[in-house]
Amino acid sequence: MANYQKILVAVDLSSESKVVLRKAQLIAGSSAEIYLIYVQEPMDNVYVGIVPQSAAFSGLGDLEAQLGEELKQKLLALGETFEIPAERLHILNGSPAHEIHRFAEENAVQLIVIGTHGQKGLQLLLGSTANAVLHGAACDVLSVRIGASR
Ligand code: AMP
Repeated sequence: MANYQKILVAVDLSSESKVVLRKAQLIAGSSAEIYLIYVQEPMDNVYVGIVPQSAAFSGLGDLEAQLGEELKQKLLALGETFEIPAERLHILNGSPAHEIHRFAEENAVQLIVIGTHGQKGLQLLLGSTANAVLHGAACDVLSVRIGASR
């Protein structure tokens, strides 16, 4: 197996994240560094092209900030459980696959570990984020099977 020194684990903070992290830790052993990231998507992404002036968007910034704080606490708790130092925990903003690729390239990551599904893609063989990460990656990608037979 390749001797990975830097491993990026991308999680959607669902309960399956622990399955993905456990596998990454097995690969990392005692020598590789694990970076744990979550990407927060802008809330107006879905509707802004359809109803750009909607009054519903005012106040979204506050809501997003509040959500970001809760997500940060979840990521910190996950990092603590898996003993990942706080400086290697990151919440990024934007499109998940794009941010995962960008972070991997900027930090010379050699392996990206994701789940085959997150909470969005349970009915699919491969979720849409997983698919997009696999397609554009400049390094190895491991998609950890999430499903009935783990
Ligand atoms: P999906 O393709 O959305 O079903 O998710 C597949 C996998 O992509 C998840 O198990 C995570 O490893 C990763 N993933 C999905 N959404 C995010 C996100 N917002 N931030 C980071 N990783 C994510």
